[in-house]
Amino acid sequence: MLRGRELKPPPRAVRAKPGVSSGTPEQATSLPRIGAPRAKPALRFPVSPETKAFYRRFYPGTTTAEWNDWHWQFQARIRTLGELTRIFQLSEDEHSAVSKHEGPLPVGITPYYASLMGLDDPMEPLRRTHVMTGDEFIRMPGEEDDPLGEDHDTVAPGLVHRYPDRVLFLTTGTCSTYCRYCTRSRMVGNPGCEYQFSTRQYEKALAYLEAHTEVRDVLLSGGDPLSIGDDKLDWLLTRLRAIKHIEFLRIGTKIPMVLPQRITRSLVAVLKKHHPLWLSIHVTHPRELTPEVTEATARLADAGIPLGSQTVLLKGINDDPAIMKPLMQGLLKRRVKPYYLYQCDPIRGSSHFRTTVEKGLEIISALRGHTTGYASPMFAVDAPGGGGKILIAPDSVVGRDGDDLLLRNFEGGVYRYPDPGGTLGQDKPKPAAK
Ligand code: SF4
Repeated sequence: MLRGRELKPPPRAVRAKPGVSSGTPEQATSLPRIGAPRAKPALRFPVSPETKAFYRRFYPGTTTAEWNDWHWQFQARIRTLGELTRIFQLSEDEHSAVSKHEGPLPVGITPYYASLMGLDDPMEPLRRTHVMTGDEFIRMPGEEDDPLGEDHDTVAPGLVHRYPDRVLFLTTGTCSTYCRYCTRSRMVGNPGCEYQFSTRQYEKALAYLEAHTEVRDVLLSGGDPLSIGDDKLDWLLTRLRAIKHIEFLRIGTKIPMVLPQRITRSLVAVLKKHHPLWLSIHVTHPRELTPEVTEATARLADAGIPLGSQTVLLKGINDDPAIMKPLMQGLLKRRVKPYYLYQCDPIRGSSHFRTTVEKGLEIISALRGHTTGYASPMFAVDAPGGGGKILIAPDSVVGRDGDDLLLRNFEGGVYRYPDPGGTLGQDKPKPAAK
């Protein structure tokens, strides 16, 4: 079936008016005819010229078919200092940080994602999110290994039950790339550590879910659930779907942004079997919105999977309305609804990524009313200690004048809303008369 993006309108000069023939015969015959056999959609991912130049330089001899094979990308992840120095001009700080790093959250970057990064510039935004620096070794007050208290709310291996009707199901400790600000930095990329993920562990989590009829919503996360093979993922989704009181499945993933080639037609066919299934995509910066990502999100959206985004607010990386606005608008164009903007969690060694909560409010204020409402995510702080997500929004209530509620609009103008009997705003100082 032709997709919307392939059905381009004809140039203005040949657009037909009703009842009037238009354009040359060639142009006329190029329009799709009702009942004509449909063109097959492209099966391969597009590869941008910049990306092609990158892999010809650093992976000579690699074919486009290999580059577009997610298994190849996964195997070829950049994981060592030697591989990093082969591709990046590392700063002394990066070099020393990578040399002395041990334990979870290792370096891991798919060649595709590396192709989007500044190879000579340590301050390039995507590189900053994936190549470690010495700042990671500084622990500031308030920082914790498990700031959200997930371990405390763990009710079965990998199963976190904090909210009344939904659970977080940690399916794997593996990701295709490792983000330096990861909330689960304590557990990802560290096989053999205290956090184990296996079908035996899944069985214990499934037994808990079968017994807890109040759970109607399961969010699969990790690690990245889409780094699991199709068969195993299908098995797990099937088991979850078989639990009658579970109404709704969600998958949290960064893979469409860092390994879009993983969104194969067979994966999409697996996901499509388990509706209603939603996807929350972790997105950081407009540089991620490549033709490859456009293809991946189109495949998911065409399969009827509602797509939302989650973005972590990161100092010097995306904490600017001039970056956030095109990011949110670009997501909408790809049928991804901006869902959450998160204040960065205070994990150990994250102070260089964290900015003020005011900065998040400034960004939300720059979006609301200034662009499509769908492009405004909710801004939330995930409360340290297990308090859950707390939404924060610019305060639009100015005060009250008798029966009138005084509200501020997106341009700063104050307007009255007749609200007899209401009390909202009466605790605020009365605005000075103009
Ligand atoms: S993809 Fe998600 S789970 Fe994996 S390192 Fe990044 S933030 Fe953490």
